[in-house]
Amino acid sequence: MGQIIAIANQKGGVGKTTTAVNLAACMAAADKKTLLVDLDPQGNATQGLGLDKNQVEFSVYEVLINEVAIRSAIRPTEMKNLFALPANRELVGAEVELVELDNREFHLRSRLSSVREEYDYVFIDCPPSLGLLTLNGLVAADGVLVTLQCEYYALEGLSELLQTVILVRDNLNSSLHVQGVLLTMYQHTNLCKQVVDDVREHLGQKVYQTVIPRNVTLSEAPSFGKPVIYYDLKSAGAQAYLSLAREIIARG
Ligand code: ATP
Ligand code: MG
Repeated sequence: MGQIIAIANQKGGVGKTTTAVNLAACMAAADKKTLLVDLDPQGNATQGLGLDKNQVEFSVYEVLINEVAIRSAIRPTEMKNLFALPANRELVGAEVELVELDNREFHLRSRLSSVREEYDYVFIDCPPSLGLLTLNGLVAADGVLVTLQCEYYALEGLSELLQTVILVRDNLNSSLHVQGVLLTMYQHTNLCKQVVDDVREHLGQKVYQTVIPRNVTLSEAPSFGKPVIYYDLKSAGAQAYLSLAREIIARG
């Protein structure tokens, strides 16, 4: 059966969406049928895959709240093997509306259950909070991939996130585990090297060998609606995400 991996960190701007879009594209390019679920009202992952977030017929919001069939909302992308469940601003409402509903943490999980067997990988791009949307992502997932930006405050908030993962595992989703911790936006500075050493010392084998460099190509590709491997395959960013995909496939 395929794997469902939630990409999460309640800190903003630490490379979650960049990782979701590019890792999903690399998996698809490796012949793995892949679905990217955009669970962030910002809709950045949707745009990064070349879909117009304001033109989608059904978004993840309708699937979570209005019981629109998930199959009606999943869209193919221009890339082979790569599919998207899009999001846009409407999703802001879900954070509030879910509170009133039964099994509020289980909506995404139950919707995904009818399609998960069709995919080798499902990635969930979580928003920068530990609210109900992220909880839905964690409850739906088998593994969580945590992105950490190589900066002085990298580990700030991490214990709260890991505590949430443990709470979800103990109460809502016993199969949840930390898939891995990914260091992003690495630069060759003493500070970055120190952060990488500290994180590896703290988290050991959970930290991926692959480190994503700070690479301007990664920040340019979304404005063309393309994952980086289709924008500039030779760039350091593209090569890093291909390496990450290989590492995750090898971890099984
Ligand atoms: P949010 O919490 O708002 O959802 P995020 O964690 O999803 O943010 P991204 O949107 O992936 O983070 O990245 C934040 C910004 O940094 C974006 O402008 C993105 O293009 C840029 N960025 C991400 N990773 C890299 C990188 N490795 N090199 C250069 N720029 C990057
Ligand atoms: Mg994001």
